[in-house]
Amino acid sequence: MRKLLRTIFLVDLVQGLMVTFRTQNPKNIVTEQYPAQRPKIAERYRGAPRLNINPENGQTLCIACDLCALACPENLIVVGWERNPETKRKDLINFTYDTSRCMFCGLCEDACPVDALELTQDFELASYSREGAIFDRQILEEGIKPTKYKF
Ligand code: SF4
Ligand code: SF4
Repeated sequence: MRKLLRTIFLVDLVQGLMVTFRTQNPKNIVTEQYPAQRPKIAERYRGAPRLNINPENGQTLCIACDLCALACPENLIVVGWERNPETKRKDLINFTYDTSRCMFCGLCEDACPVDALELTQDFELASYSREGAIFDRQILEEGIKPTKYKF
Protein backbone atom coordinates (compact mmCIF):
# COMPACT_ATOMS: atom_id res chain seq x y z
CA MET A 1 0.00 0.00 0.00
CA ARG A 2 2.81 2.38 0.97
CA LYS A 3 4.64 1.59 -2.26
CA LEU A 4 1.47 2.22 -4.27
CA LEU A 5 0.99 5.65 -2.65
CA ARG A 6 4.63 6.57 -3.36
CA THR A 7 4.05 5.66 -6.98
CA ILE A 8 0.77 7.58 -7.29
CA PHE A 9 2.13 10.75 -5.72
CA LEU A 10 5.46 10.55 -7.60
CA VAL A 11 7.38 10.69 -4.34
CA ASP A 12 10.58 9.21 -5.82
CA LEU A 13 10.49 11.65 -8.71
CA VAL A 14 10.01 14.64 -6.40
CA GLN A 15 12.80 13.45 -4.11
CA GLY A 16 15.11 13.10 -7.09
CA LEU A 17 14.25 16.58 -8.36
CA MET A 18 14.86 18.03 -4.90
CA VAL A 19 18.39 16.61 -4.97
CA THR A 20 18.89 18.11 -8.45
CA PHE A 21 17.64 21.58 -7.54
CA ARG A 22 19.55 21.62 -4.25
CA THR A 23 22.84 21.26 -6.10
CA GLN A 24 22.00 23.13 -9.29
CA ASN A 25 22.59 26.83 -9.73
CA PRO A 26 21.54 27.92 -13.24
CA LYS A 27 24.19 30.68 -13.11
CA ASN A 28 26.97 28.09 -12.91
CA ILE A 29 27.58 27.21 -16.54
CA VAL A 30 29.81 24.17 -16.78
CA THR A 31 29.47 23.29 -20.45
CA GLU A 32 31.54 24.94 -23.19
CA GLN A 33 29.78 27.93 -24.72
CA TYR A 34 31.23 27.43 -28.20
CA PRO A 35 30.91 29.20 -30.60
CA ALA A 36 30.05 32.18 -28.35
CA GLN A 37 33.27 31.53 -26.46
CA ARG A 38 36.14 29.87 -28.24
CA PRO A 39 37.89 27.15 -26.26
CA LYS A 40 41.56 27.37 -25.35
CA ILE A 41 43.49 24.94 -27.50
CA ALA A 42 46.43 22.96 -26.19
CA GLU A 43 49.81 24.08 -27.50
CA ARG A 44 50.60 20.65 -28.89
CA TYR A 45 47.31 20.47 -30.82
CA ARG A 46 47.75 19.87 -34.55
CA GLY A 47 44.99 21.38 -36.66
CA ALA A 48 44.59 23.20 -39.96
CA PRO A 49 47.72 23.21 -42.13
CA ARG A 50 49.39 26.49 -42.99
CA LEU A 51 52.01 27.31 -45.58
CA ASN A 52 54.09 30.07 -44.07
CA ILE A 53 55.35 33.07 -45.95
CA ASN A 54 58.37 35.22 -45.24
CA PRO A 55 57.04 38.28 -43.36
CA GLU A 56 59.83 40.45 -44.79
CA ASN A 57 59.16 39.96 -48.48
CA GLY A 58 55.79 38.17 -48.60
CA GLN A 59 57.33 35.26 -50.53
CA THR A 60 56.59 31.66 -49.66
CA LEU A 61 59.07 29.90 -47.43
CA CYS A 62 58.42 26.67 -49.32
CA ILE A 63 61.33 25.58 -51.50
CA ALA A 64 59.25 22.91 -53.26
CA CYS A 65 61.55 20.13 -52.08
CA ASP A 66 58.62 17.66 -51.86
CA LEU A 67 59.83 16.18 -48.58
CA CYS A 68 56.46 16.75 -46.88
CA ALA A 69 54.66 14.87 -49.65
CA LEU A 70 57.15 12.00 -49.39
CA ALA A 71 56.81 11.85 -45.60
CA CYS A 72 53.02 11.72 -45.67
CA PRO A 73 51.73 8.16 -45.17
CA GLU A 74 48.43 9.17 -46.79
CA ASN A 75 49.96 10.70 -49.92
CA LEU A 76 47.60 13.63 -49.68
CA ILE A 77 50.03 16.47 -50.36
CA VAL A 78 50.77 17.50 -53.93
CA VAL A 79 53.54 20.01 -54.54
CA GLY A 80 53.58 21.63 -57.97
CA TRP A 81 56.76 23.35 -59.07
CA GLU A 82 58.79 24.38 -62.08
CA ARG A 83 62.49 25.05 -62.51
CA ASN A 84 63.42 28.70 -62.72
CA PRO A 85 65.89 28.97 -65.65
CA GLU A 86 67.60 32.02 -64.13
CA THR A 87 68.08 30.92 -60.53
CA LYS A 88 68.07 27.18 -61.37
CA ARG A 89 65.90 26.73 -58.31
CA LYS A 90 62.46 25.21 -58.02
CA ASP A 91 59.63 27.74 -57.91
CA LEU A 92 56.47 26.69 -56.12
CA ILE A 93 53.50 26.77 -58.50
CA ASN A 94 50.76 25.15 -56.48
CA PHE A 95 50.31 23.16 -53.33
CA THR A 96 47.29 21.04 -52.45
CA TYR A 97 46.54 19.43 -49.12
CA ASP A 98 43.51 17.16 -48.69
CA THR A 99 42.45 17.65 -45.06
CA SER A 100 39.68 15.04 -45.39
CA ARG A 101 42.32 12.30 -45.53
CA CYS A 102 44.74 13.83 -43.06
CA MET A 103 45.27 12.18 -39.67
CA PHE A 104 47.24 15.18 -38.34
CA CYS A 105 50.19 13.05 -37.41
CA GLY A 106 52.61 15.91 -38.05
CA LEU A 107 55.12 13.90 -40.11
CA CYS A 108 54.91 16.40 -42.97
CA GLU A 109 55.55 19.29 -40.59
CA ASP A 110 58.56 17.52 -39.11
CA ALA A 111 59.95 16.70 -42.56
CA CYS A 112 59.92 20.31 -43.77
CA PRO A 113 63.50 21.61 -43.66
CA VAL A 114 62.53 25.30 -43.71
CA ASP A 115 59.51 25.34 -41.37
CA ALA A 116 57.26 26.34 -44.23
CA LEU A 117 54.55 23.81 -43.45
CA GLU A 118 52.89 24.08 -40.08
CA LEU A 119 49.90 22.44 -38.44
CA THR A 120 48.21 25.26 -36.56
CA GLN A 121 45.81 25.34 -33.62
CA ASP A 122 42.87 26.20 -35.91
CA PHE A 123 40.38 23.39 -35.45
CA GLU A 124 37.33 24.46 -37.50
CA LEU A 125 37.85 22.30 -40.56
CA ALA A 126 34.27 21.34 -41.34
CA SER A 127 32.99 21.96 -44.85
CA TYR A 128 29.84 21.17 -46.80
CA SER A 129 31.63 19.18 -49.49
CA ARG A 130 34.68 17.01 -49.93
CA GLU A 131 36.05 19.60 -52.36
CA GLY A 132 35.92 22.14 -49.52
CA ALA A 133 38.28 19.95 -47.53
CA ILE A 134 40.98 20.24 -50.20
CA PHE A 135 43.13 23.27 -49.44
CA ASP A 136 44.94 24.97 -52.30
CA ARG A 137 47.98 27.20 -52.01
CA GLN A 138 45.91 30.34 -51.43
CA ILE A 139 43.95 28.86 -48.52
CA LEU A 140 47.12 27.39 -47.07
CA GLU A 141 48.91 30.74 -47.20
CA GLU A 142 46.02 32.91 -46.00
CA GLY A 143 44.73 30.44 -43.39
CA ILE A 144 41.19 29.25 -42.90
CA LYS A 145 38.52 31.81 -42.11
CA PRO A 146 35.96 30.24 -39.78
CA THR A 147 32.52 31.86 -39.48
CA LYS A 148 32.30 34.33 -36.58
CA TYR A 149 28.83 34.08 -35.07
CA LYS A 150 27.20 37.05 -33.33
CA PHE A 151 25.01 36.62 -30.26
S1 SF4 B 1 49.70 15.41 -40.85
FE1 SF4 B 1 50.28 13.33 -41.39
S2 SF4 B 1 48.58 12.56 -42.66
FE2 SF4 B 1 48.38 14.79 -42.55
S3 SF4 B 1 49.44 15.54 -44.36
FE3 SF4 B 1 50.91 15.57 -42.69
S4 SF4 B 1 51.98 13.60 -42.84
FE4 SF4 B 1 50.09 13.43 -44.04
S1 SF4 C 1 58.79 20.05 -47.05
FE1 SF4 C 1 58.46 22.22 -46.67
S2 SF4 C 1 59.73 23.24 -48.20
FE2 SF4 C 1 59.51 21.12 -48.86
S3 SF4 C 1 57.74 21.12 -50.25
FE3 SF4 C 1 56.96 20.65 -48.22
S4 SF4 C 1 56.37 22.63 -47.34
FE4 SF4 C 1 57.67 23.04 -49.10
